[in-house]
Parts: sequence; C-alpha cells; structure tokens
Amino acid sequence: MKLLDRKHAQLPPVARPAEAAPNGEMAAFPPAEEWDDWVEYDSAAWPHRVEKHYALLPTVCFNCEASCGLLAYVDKDTHQVRKFEGNPAHPGSRGRNCAKGPATINQINDPERILYPLKRVGPRGSGKWERVRWDDVLADIGGRIAATIHADRHDEILYHVGRPGEDGFMERVLKSWGCDSHQSHTNVCSSSARLGYDLWSGSDRPSSDFANARFILLLSSHLETGHYFNPHAQRIVEGKMKGCKLAVCDTRLSNSASMADYWLPTLPGSEGAMLLAMAHILLARDLIDRQFMKDWVNWEDSLRALRPQAEPTLENFVGLLKELYAEFTPEFAERESGIPAARIVEIAEQIGWAGRQFASHVWRNTTAGNMGGWQVARCLWLLHVLTGSVGTRGGCSPNSWDKFVPAPYMPPPPHKRWNDTLWPIEYPLSHHELSILLPHFLKEGRSHLEVYFSRVVNPVWTYPDGATWMEVLRDETKVGLHVALTPTWNESAWFADYVLPMGHASERHDTVSMETHAGKWISFRQPVLRTLAEKQGQHIKRTYEVNPGEVWEETEFFFELSWHIDPDGTQGIRKFYESPDRPGEMLTLDEYYGWMFDHSVPGLPEAASKEGFTPLQYMRKYGAFAVEDGIYEQHLKPVPDDDAGVVVDGVRRSGFPTPSRKLEFYSQTMVDYGWPEHAIPGYIHSHVHPSRQDPDKNEFVLMPNFRLPTLIHTRSGNTKWLNELSHSNPIWINTRDARRLGVGMGDLLRLSTEIGYFVGRAWPTEGIAPAVVGCSHHMGRWRLGNENAPSKWTAALVDLQEDSGRYLLRQIEGIRPFESPDPDSKRIWWSDAGVHQNLCFPVQPDPISGMHCWHQKVTVEKAHPEDLYGDVFVDTNKSHEVYKRWLAMTRPGPGPDGQRRPYWLQRPYRPAQEAFVYPPGGGGATRR
Ligand code: SF4
Repeated sequence: MKLLDRKHAQLPPVARPAEAAPNGEMAAFPPAEEWDDWVEYDSAAWPHRVEKHYALLPTVCFNCEASCGLLAYVDKDTHQVRKFEGNPAHPGSRGRNCAKGPATINQINDPERILYPLKRVGPRGSGKWERVRWDDVLADIGGRIAATIHADRHDEILYHVGRPGEDGFMERVLKSWGCDSHQSHTNVCSSSARLGYDLWSGSDRPSSDFANARFILLLSSHLETGHYFNPHAQRIVEGKMKGCKLAVCDTRLSNSASMADYWLPTLPGSEGAMLLAMAHILLARDLIDRQFMKDWVNWEDSLRALRPQAEPTLENFVGLLKELYAEFTPEFAERESGIPAARIVEIAEQIGWAGRQFASHVWRNTTAGNMGGWQVARCLWLLHVLTGSVGTRGGCSPNSWDKFVPAPYMPPPPHKRWNDTLWPIEYPLSHHELSILLPHFLKEGRSHLEVYFSRVVNPVWTYPDGATWMEVLRDETKVGLHVALTPTWNESAWFADYVLPMGHASERHDTVSMETHAGKWISFRQPVLRTLAEKQGQHIKRTYEVNPGEVWEETEFFFELSWHIDPDGTQGIRKFYESPDRPGEMLTLDEYYGWMFDHSVPGLPEAASKEGFTPLQYMRKYGAFAVEDGIYEQHLKPVPDDDAGVVVDGVRRSGFPTPSRKLEFYSQTMVDYGWPEHAIPGYIHSHVHPSRQDPDKNEFVLMPNFRLPTLIHTRSGNTKWLNELSHSNPIWINTRDARRLGVGMGDLLRLSTEIGYFVGRAWPTEGIAPAVVGCSHHMGRWRLGNENAPSKWTAALVDLQEDSGRYLLRQIEGIRPFESPDPDSKRIWWSDAGVHQNLCFPVQPDPISGMHCWHQKVTVEKAHPEDLYGDVFVDTNKSHEVYKRWLAMTRPGPGPDGQRRPYWLQRPYRPAQEAFVYPPGGGGATRR
C-alpha cells in the first residue's frame, strides 16, 4: 500500500499485461498489486491528510465503439464509485481516455437517470408512468414473445440496437429464439464504407497500423472524434512523432484537419474523383508494387472480364488500369473537388513514397454523406492495392485479423429465417439492415411488429425523418409493444410501453474487442459494485441488487427473459440458459463468462495461472487481455489443401475471404446483382453533386453528420461535464456566402430541405468551403415534458404541433438551472440546446449499400419573421413520397441461383444457407 504523492506519481507504472506507457511517456498509474487497496488523500479534507481507501476495478467505457479501458475508483467505506481513470492494462487504450471516458461518473450519478422499471399509464406518448416489478416485466414480455414465436410470427419480434458495446451475446440470444430479428443503426452510420471494403477483401473495415505508417490519409476526423477515437488518435500521434506525415480530407476545418500536414477540403461527394486521380498518378509514375498486385489482386479475372482479347499478363492489367483511370487527371479532380491538382500530385507521391507503410481510414464522413459513398472506400483501398500496403507493418489490414470474438458457451445453430423487413429484396447488397425504412414499411402495412425492443438507440432523434418514427411508435396497431432498454431517457423512449433501466459502463457485463492496431485483444466490462461486494463475500443473485435503484444489465435480463419464453424447456430455448454444472438451474454470469475465458481465449488460462488466478479472476482483476500482437500478412498463411485458400508461389495460402480468395478489383458480384457499371472502383456523382445545385437560388449542400469530440449521441445528454463543454450547434457558413446573404454572426437562418426546414444560428467562418453549410448532429435534444423525459442538462422543453402529418416543433424554453440532488444543476450557465436538424431530413437510402445519404440539398435564407430559434417543421406526407422515390432507384434481387444476397458477402446474425434462397422455400428464382 502506497500513498499517491508527487514522488510516487513519477514512478513507472506496474501495469500488466500490456505496457501502459512505453519509453517514459507521461504515466502515473497505481501499481496493479495495489488495486485492491489503493490509498489517496481526500481532497475535500485538505489541508489535512485524510486517507481514502479505494478498490480499483477495471471496466470498459460504453460511450463510443472504441471500448477503452476504465479503472473505477470505488470507495471501500461507502461503496460509491468516486471517479474513473484509464486502465493501463487495456491493450487498445493503454491507460488513456478521451473526455467522455471519465465523464462516465456523471452518467452514474445523474439525478435524472432512470432507476426503476417503468410501465406506461394512459395512451402511448402521454408521458405518464408507473413503477413495476422486474418479475412482472419478465412475465409480460416473455409471454408475448412466446405467443409470437408459437404463432410462427418470429419476424414480428425486433431488437433494434444503436451502440452494441458487446460482441456475440445478443447474437446468441436471438439465434436461441430462432429469430432473424437483429436491427442495427448501421445504415445511419457506416454501411456504405463497409460495402466498399467488403467487396474488395471480404472484411468490412480496415485495421490501420497508424503507429508504424510513413504516410496517413484520413477521410474522417479520427484524431478528434472518429472511429475508435482515442485508440486510433494516440497511434496516429505516435506515428507522427516518428516522422509520419498526415493528410486529412474533410470539407470542414475539423480539429483533425488543423493538426494535419495537409488539409484537403474536398467538395462534398468529390472524394472518389480525388482518390482516383491519386491512383492515376501512382500508375503514371510507376509507384506501384507489381509483386503484390501479381500475387494478391484478381487481375486475371479482371482482364478476362474487361479485356477478353488481351494476353493475361500483369503488364496488360497495369495497362488496363492506366486506361480505365486515364480520365481521372489531377486537373479533372481539381475541377470536381476543389483541391489543387499540384496538391493531389504531391499527396500521391507521398503515398507512393510510403509504399507498404501507407495507412488510411474512411468510415462515416463522405461515405455516410453521399449517394455512391461506398465507392469512395473502394477507391481508397485501390491506393493500398497499388502500393502493396495491405496486411503490412504500417499499412492496413482487414479488420477481421485484429478483432477477437471468443466463442460463447453452447452457441445455438444458425436460424433458418430471413426477415424481409430488415433485409428487403430491393437491397440484395445492402450492408446491414434497412433500419431507416422500418417506419415506412410499417406505414405501408408491409410489416407489423408485435414486440419491438429499442436498446441504446433513439431513432426519433438520431435518425432522419423522426416524425415518421413518432407516428408509427405511438400507433399500437403497428407496434404492439415497445420495450425501451436504456440507461437514460430519450425522445424515443417517451413512446414506449416499458422503459427498463440498463446499466452504464460500470454497471454491466460485456465482452468486447476492437481492431485498434495490429494486435488482438479482448476486454471485459463488469458491474464494479457487484464485483466488490462479491470479493467481500456477499452473495449477489442479480446485478440490480447492487446497482443504483434497480438498474439491471442485459445479460442477466435476457437469461431470465429466455426462461420466461420457454419456462418448461419444450421450445428448445431454455437449454441455452441452463447451467452446465447444475442441471435444470439457470446459467449464472460467472458460469457464462468463466466458460468463455476458460475455453475460448488462447493464452488467457496460462497467463492467469501464472498469477494464481482463474481466467475469470484474471479478467475481473485486469479487465483486458492481449491475445496476440504484431499481426501482419495473415493472407500468406499456408493452409491445408482441403481448406479454402489460393495457391500463390506454389503454396496454398489462406488469402482473403472473397470468391477468388484475392483482393477483388473486378467484382463479378456487382455484375451478378445488376450493377455491371460499378464492377470496378469508380466515381459516382453524389446526390448533392454541384450540378444538382443552383447557387442563384441559394442552394447549398448541408453537411449535417459531423461529430464533436466531447459528445456521444443520446447518452451524453445526462453527462453534465460534457454538456458544459459543448452545448451549441451553429450553422457553419463561409464568410463569402454569409456576406452575400447579408448574414452576420449569430443571425437566424432558415435551412429548407425537401420535406421541411429548421432554424439555426449562423457561424460565418473560413473553415468551410463556399456553397457548403455544416451543422453538428450532436445537439438539438428536446423533451415534451419536465419529468421522465430527456435530460434538462441538454434538452429544450418543446411544444409539438401537428396537423395531418405536418409538424412544427418549437422550443418553449432552452436550458435552465434546475433543482435536483446535484448542486451543479442549479449552477447551469448555458441556455442553448441547439437545433434538431435530423427531423426535417427525408430518408435517402443509397440504392446499393442501403446507407442513409446524410448530405442534404438545402435552400439557405434569412429566417422569416415568424421563425424562432430551434424551430423545426416537417411534413411526413412528403417524406413518404421521398422514400418511394429512393426505393424506386433500387435494382431488386434475387441474384444467381435465386439468392437474396451473395452468400460470400458478410451478413450480421447470419442465417443458415437455405434462408438465402428467394422466394421462401427455394426454387431458384431468377433476377426480377
Ligand atoms: S474514445 Fe472516449 S468515449 Fe470512446 S471508448 Fe474511449 S474513452 Fe470512451
């Protein structure tokens, strides 16, 4: 036991198993040996030295997908969590966090959090609730699900998830129920980039080795907010400290762009043209890796399809590439993107110089903004293929090499269903479910929901066309039962039947892993108060016994719910939730995770035993485990003759999980599914291409999908520190445009979309290109009442007027100090709640990837006399018409052999192969 004083704080960390901070970087982590009884002086007692004794218990941040490690400091006297700091034993985050990690303390202490299970009283959406018992909740919901399954209406059960924060658990649950019922938020997030990557490599994300790169190109704001924010940001900075150059492509001068060596402010949607011009330069200057291309690109198939007369040689393929991309000169790209041709050449040369140490990333940004955005990911990967920077140190690997998902205890077999509501035949290539279309499908009677779970998702606010969501969520003929599993109140939970409080980061179990670098790791989220109580010898049956109020966790909830669905085991569901050692009794959390850590995590049992721990004890102690490090060139691995693979250099190697086992430049899949014009990486004019705007009518492109580094989505609402940092989303407008419109700082603007308008404040800046306006999507929370509603730290009180599908949302009051057990709530000094722009966006699903194309064509004008700040108007009749127009752009399946979707392409919660056949029951229908 040591006191944390200045001298001690300078000691190197004793963190295991990962090095917490190599090379003498700033570090002050309590030694792991002392985590059971760590002593600090009580700051409130200063100047007296009063010792406080803490148990330091690791868990995992739940505020973004990065899943950084946290150490909870639990006061051993009061059993209260006092603060969260970084966990040095976590291989992804290495003891570091962004502002949102430590702010978890606000979430668990928030005076407005939901503490007990609630059931609505009165009509749905009337804002009245009564407290109910967990047992009654389980009996009611379990009974309804059982009846729905019994009636063979499995597709009417839907589990809609925003931030999963876990790997594999819900897949096991839904498969055990035999349901194709998983609906993610991915098509408002990343389905477009995923399709681009998947078509090339059979993996839907890159794992970029930023720390070892010589040149990094980001089509996103990774340093400040992006995908795997803190783990990536720290490795990008590490790379830069070793001399790597960084280019950031972002229309807006993001914090990331401001830290880069090159800022590339492309016009929205033009990024593909710029990337292909870089490919053009790499080819023209012969800055290409012929050996890599010869071995690992499907160039023979490509030549056969595109130049059948040509002799099958690599040189002919290189010649074909030059021909195909001849039109993408730097000058052409300059006209499209606004980036000077000389700068494009310079970046291309830097990429060529970096060669196999070129790293990049695109995730949301342009891919999520534009129709055809999935092709941008393909164009970006083309640069990797040309430079051979795939799977290399300092390059990019397929994410599947670096993400580790352990097999669970008793995995259920794949189900045999295909849910057309989630995977409609119009989108055979969509990457993830068409969740944005659900309300329109319900409106049209194309589907009906008996039980709808919304879990850490808030579609009324985070999705486009939220008013249509409101319309269907309050209609009991369309949604029979809405169960909101959520740690905090949100706009969608207002329209629920049950609101069930689920734990924050330190109040629940999950296992989670992310591809943060060229290594594999697994982390373990745990309810720290339960862990401490059990260490002290208490017997805890359910996590809600120790969490605040009766806050529970999904793992135990779904164990129990599954028993209620199949109480006597006759449906074949209960067996998946029975103890392996105590027949007929329910599986416990220790048994479930203990089995996983004992059997499915290579190296963990040995590491644990060296310290005298069981694998579960080890994970409860350290919270994470590095499974493997330095993972490169997995495609070269020799495989047995009867395994899937490809012969390269006379050796059968594993290759990539594509039909050819190589990286697919030419995609036969695109041809087979009706899109031959997109068989190769190409440039698609976005729906907001400048040719579709009329500047004389004050038409602009609105970029509504950028993040702020200090906010999440719904869950940051209940996080007072973060709201104090960020509480406004002004409209970025170029100073030249502002002058032309006669608009000054803070003036009210009305931005009209195809289905409505919103009113916000102007922020003239040089940090955004002319003819483009930008507005962060993080703000504009609202509440229809004062109690049991989105947080007063962040949400404006609003009036919602409705007239035959036309809605006007108007703020009654912004943010005000309020009475609560937290004295800080009386000290609120900000008043702005921002504006909720998403409400007046129609759904715009890309006809191929299914991704909602966030960018909007808007007309910008000064606010009208009747307008007030924060007004949002929307007409859902019009939004339904826009939905039909975009739906008509699709080319429905099935594809060859009557497949609804290419079997080789990734699909979450993958059903058995027979379910891929369309129509149901098979028959091998041809393309419609
Ligand atoms: S990047 Fe920040 S919000 Fe995301 S997991 Fe890490 S600490 Fe949490």
